[in-house]
Amino acid sequence: MENRFRAGQRVMIREKKLKEIKPWLRWCIGLCLPLLAILAFIYIKWVGIGMICLFYELTGLYCPGCGSGRAVTALLQGKVGTAFSANILLFLLGIPSAAVFIHEYLRLVFPKLGLRPVYIPQWAVRLCLGLILAFWVLRNIPAFSFLAPAG
Ligand SMILES: [Zn+2]
Repeated sequence: MENRFRAGQRVMIREKKLKEIKPWLRWCIGLCLPLLAILAFIYIKWVGIGMICLFYELTGLYCPGCGSGRAVTALLQGKVGTAFSANILLFLLGIPSAAVFIHEYLRLVFPKLGLRPVYIPQWAVRLCLGLILAFWVLRNIPAFSFLAPAG
């Protein structure tokens, strides 16, 4: 089982570690994460996320995360266009990351489903880091102002 892990790949939870997790902890995680997600959904939908970016406050430049609070708030309010223009990177990387996270959650909480771990190749990790860096630089250049957080 453990031999499935290949060099140069990343996996969130290895199968050996997964088997060591106590049932009470699986129950706790299985109940707490959805409860937290529901509470966060309710809070963000009606109150929104009013975060201040320290990087932006200090430098006047946008970081890769600038606008993500507005994007999540807009997304939960059903305003997909607003969310897209607030932080496009959230869609490019956030949605696949959320899919992997949900898969790993199901694998952790329901081991009898027999879900295999998600192997993330090293090139994909490098591609994501490259995207984040490129997005960070480009959204601060006036010619690419469409990448800056709107709203
Ligand atoms: Zn920022």
